[in-house]
Amino acid sequence: MCIFCKIINHEIPASVLYEDEDVCAILDISQVTDGHTLVMPKEHVENILDCPPVLLSKIMSVAQTLSKDILIKMNAKGINVLTNAKPAAGQSVMHFHVHILPRYDENDRLIIEFKENENKDISIAYQRLTKEL
Ligand code: 5GP
Ligand code: ZN
Repeated sequence: MCIFCKIINHEIPASVLYEDEDVCAILDISQVTDGHTLVMPKEHVENILDCPPVLLSKIMSVAQTLSKDILIKMNAKGINVLTNAKPAAGQSVMHFHVHILPRYDENDRLIIEFKENENKDISIAYQRLTKEL
């Protein structure tokens, strides 16, 4: 059983912020930024790609409500909501979860950088992405 399934089954302790029939939200143990929260399905699905759409919608709805709540209660200036799918994207726990990361200032330990591609050729990606599989 995976570590998040054990948390959901109350076999491992966690700081639970929200729980219903389908969804659970806990404080991330790493606290990359203060109030860093994980929202996950109770059912074990590996990542966003495998999540049934109705369940995904419930998770994102909880993530939205919690994000608003966390923003106010933690006095944050902004918030990042993200999910990593597969190890190449940084997923380390193979039970789908959405990170809520409250943001405070440029020294708040989270660095997300969008570097522009110097050699970009949009037409190649466009051709590939509009071709039938
Ligand atoms: P990922 O890298 O898969 O997107 O994120 C996994 C997250 O789970 C990490 O931010 C890590 O700190 C968190 N995490 C791993 N093990 C535990 C645990 O036992 N308890 C809690 N609360 N968080 C955990
Ligand atoms: Zn699991």
